[in-house]
Amino acid sequence: MNFVSTRRAGAPVRFEDAILAGTAQDGGLYVPERLPDDTLSALTGTECIAQTARILLQPFVEGGPLAPALDALCDEAFDFDAPLVTPDPARPGLVALELFHGPTGAFKDFGARFLIACLSRLADQDGPRTVLAATSGDTGGAVGSATQGRAGVRAIILFPKGRVSAFQRHQLTCWDAPVSALEVEGDFDACQALVKAAFADAGLAARHRLTSANSINLARLLPQGAHLARACAQVRSRTGIAPGLIIPTGNLGHGVAALYARAMGASIGPVILATNANAALADWAATGTYRPRPSVATLANAMDVGAANNFERLAALPGLSGSVSVERVEDDAIRARIISDYIASGYVWCPHSATGAEAYARLGAAERNARPWIVAATAHPYKFADIVEPLIGRAIAPPPALEAVLSRPSRAILAQADLPALTRHLASLEEPVLS
Ligand SMILES: *Cc1c(COP(=O)(O)O)cnc(C)c1O
Repeated sequence: MNFVSTRRAGAPVRFEDAILAGTAQDGGLYVPERLPDDTLSALTGTECIAQTARILLQPFVEGGPLAPALDALCDEAFDFDAPLVTPDPARPGLVALELFHGPTGAFKDFGARFLIACLSRLADQDGPRTVLAATSGDTGGAVGSATQGRAGVRAIILFPKGRVSAFQRHQLTCWDAPVSALEVEGDFDACQALVKAAFADAGLAARHRLTSANSINLARLLPQGAHLARACAQVRSRTGIAPGLIIPTGNLGHGVAALYARAMGASIGPVILATNANAALADWAATGTYRPRPSVATLANAMDVGAANNFERLAALPGLSGSVSVERVEDDAIRARIISDYIASGYVWCPHSATGAEAYARLGAAERNARPWIVAATAHPYKFADIVEPLIGRAIAPPPALEAVLSRPSRAILAQADLPALTRHLASLEEPVLS
């Protein structure tokens, strides 16, 4: 299977080339030449996530260097579960897909672990590849956790000084070699600009074999269809009906993965993309025109996106109109949903997952009764304890994986928000370790 640019210029490339390149040369995003339409229709829900991922990814890697390693890659990357739970026995039609039982407590673990496993597997004689991950939230931790102890790849996490919570800072700075964390004197945009500047410096990019880990990378995006397809197959086998899927959405990686999986035959009914107050996607659904804009800060900060990375992929999907809808959920409604569902059932949503729970509550009775609905619970509420605890009036206990993070030592290197500082850091990684 080859991948072509959404802008249709340039030659088709293989999966491996697409994930190493990031964006296509014409500035577009790589998309599968076609979606193999019957790949996922035979899922029964008894498959584990690793098995489902193998089935989903096999046609994409076929014929390339990763194909013989696919089984091992999936076993390595998807070695934790994503349980389905019924948050409120009084509303049995609402099912939460808990995607936060991985090492860093958010669904980013799925994509990051597969991407890093692929990069490590593609190691060659020419030295390690270096992943630059600008982050204000869940991506950096997931990439750090996935990279530590790996050969053939290393990761540099860049995060804005003073703009992440104490727990987030810890989770970005606690990973062992070959991971390092730069605490940048600037905001998130400055971190992202720094990464862009590094890629734009062709000499630097080539010398350090720079790669990016953001959600446009297909090795992050595609496997996310596996946990969604598997959850829908489970609900389908229990109820006989393909469930609707509600996905808290920012850069649209998870949402596009869901739509790909549905096109590949997964038992996924209607898809609702739940956003926070950032309105570009909801306005697109209402008017047909996508107008990117500066992002606004919300309680669901991993979804604070004014111009979704993956919008071009969404727009390139055939037969899109009517097959996906968008629900925009403001901060007040996020707060109210966390409180009311906690009072009703004791279940605690993180602010991102709460946008999905609110989108479910806003469905008309007919839609709610027509089928079961799965809300993707994208992060553990403990990660956002500073927001959630005051709303529910009690402390949230960390799950074991996050408790383990807290017990690790933290190390960060303070850096100016300029390319020379990043260049110096990259050069320091080249120096032989003295012992
Ligand atoms: C990244 C993230 C999202 C949004 O996912 P996209 O693929 O960017 O749409 C939602 N919730 C949480 C907790 C996240 O970390």
